[in-house]
Amino acid sequence: MTVDQRAPRRTPGRLLRTGLLAAAVAAVVALDTGAVPLPFSTPVALPDRVSQGSQGGTDPDDADADLSAGERARNDGIEAATAAMTAAYAAKDEAAFLALVDPADTKLVTRMRTMFRNLRAIGYDEVAFGWPDRQTYPLPAGTSYDAPGAPAEAVAAAVEVRTRISSFDRKTASTVLGLSFADRGGRWLVVGDKDAAEELDLYTASEPWMLGSVYVVKKAHTIVVGEAKRKRDVDRLAAQVEQAIGAVRAVWKIKSWNGKAVVYATTDRRFVDSQFGGRDAKSNKVTKEAVFDAKVEMLYGTPVLDLADIPEEATPRMVVTPFLLGRNNAQSRAVLRHELTHVAFAYEGGESVPTWLVEGIAEYTAFRTGGSGVDGVGALAARGLPRTTWTEIKRGTWKPSLVADPGDFYSGTSKHVSDTYTTGWLTCLYIADSYGEQSLARLYAAAGARSPDEDPEAVEAAILKKVLKTKRSTLVSETKSYARRIRSRFV
Ligand SMILES: [Zn+2]
Repeated sequence: MTVDQRAPRRTPGRLLRTGLLAAAVAAVVALDTGAVPLPFSTPVALPDRVSQGSQGGTDPDDADADLSAGERARNDGIEAATAAMTAAYAAKDEAAFLALVDPADTKLVTRMRTMFRNLRAIGYDEVAFGWPDRQTYPLPAGTSYDAPGAPAEAVAAAVEVRTRISSFDRKTASTVLGLSFADRGGRWLVVGDKDAAEELDLYTASEPWMLGSVYVVKKAHTIVVGEAKRKRDVDRLAAQVEQAIGAVRAVWKIKSWNGKAVVYATTDRRFVDSQFGGRDAKSNKVTKEAVFDAKVEMLYGTPVLDLADIPEEATPRMVVTPFLLGRNNAQSRAVLRHELTHVAFAYEGGESVPTWLVEGIAEYTAFRTGGSGVDGVGALAARGLPRTTWTEIKRGTWKPSLVADPGDFYSGTSKHVSDTYTTGWLTCLYIADSYGEQSLARLYAAAGARSPDEDPEAVEAAILKKVLKTKRSTLVSETKSYARRIRSRFV
């Protein structure tokens, strides 16, 4: 993720020699987890269910063992409806898909039609609707789906939608939708998509295909999902992402990455808030607390139906804020290279990778000045530094904050977050310039191979010793002298 750096502003570097001046820009600090789950993507506990578990039933595998005949028929009806939705989608048969929706609710039909068309437009060629936990939830008090003169039983259910774009996604993602079903003349149809919203709210706006009509741009290596009202921005973003992917692939030959990226650029506030928790950068607001321009998240591969569920990670998605979508300059293009580096390393390691390395390698790639060699002075001219850091490094009073823990790294004031990024970047720039840039990828893979349950300090010490034959204190002091050396090339 990229934290926006308008407060405190960075000092662009003015070189002693004029060559590189043109590149001096006030830049954006990158912030995100890439492969590290962000606090606001934590799954929430679903509400108490109408417990119909299979306690004491004759066939332990029969989830419906304790149910009445009517309840069994209901469950079979709901199951049949989700199976028919899957078959209709596979057959590209919109009419058959909508035949599973209560025709009396024209607004609901419109929303379900938009969802069907959005999934197709984005390019999901594998979509399956399922009901893994076969649990039903009570409707909110006062909600009724009785047809005129025909009282109908209705329940809410957590419907899993498994999605994959086979040419882009390595793994299938799982999203939970809260749908309500009612008996309509012996057939169980979808009659609502909001009843379970309160319980499942995190999942009702986390995907662009759940909301208004999407506008999609497809390139050889990228799919960008936005809205028609921002067509020009989405078109430009797609071209820039395609270009940035080329730049990232030129540096990192990561076997686990297929060299492609799916980007969400939806500006719907429900989506943006579900992704950034209100901490997305806004074009005219400077905040004390760090705000973000973009992020990369890992979609889950297994449904989150209970707090106890530890979801598997499936496939990365790059998410840009409405603010970044509207920007077109050297910093915004640097942010794209930063985020795409997270996508490239998405399968190289998760929570066991120190956050300074996750962000440092992304920031290093964002401001790499091209060419085969590492150009520390050029990168510093391109990225710049926060004004205070600029002065401290010159005076020799700079205290690097090399932070491994994501919780400490991303939270707090803009100043704190920009310092953690700057330190991560300078440390990775020093490592690339001293040990060769591919040593960063080896360091990442070594950390990724460790268990996330291990003590982060022990993991860091082990990978620094194994890959760089060094230790934290030496690395920090060498980074400090290195930063002073490249800084001295500027006034
Ligand atoms: Zn980042």
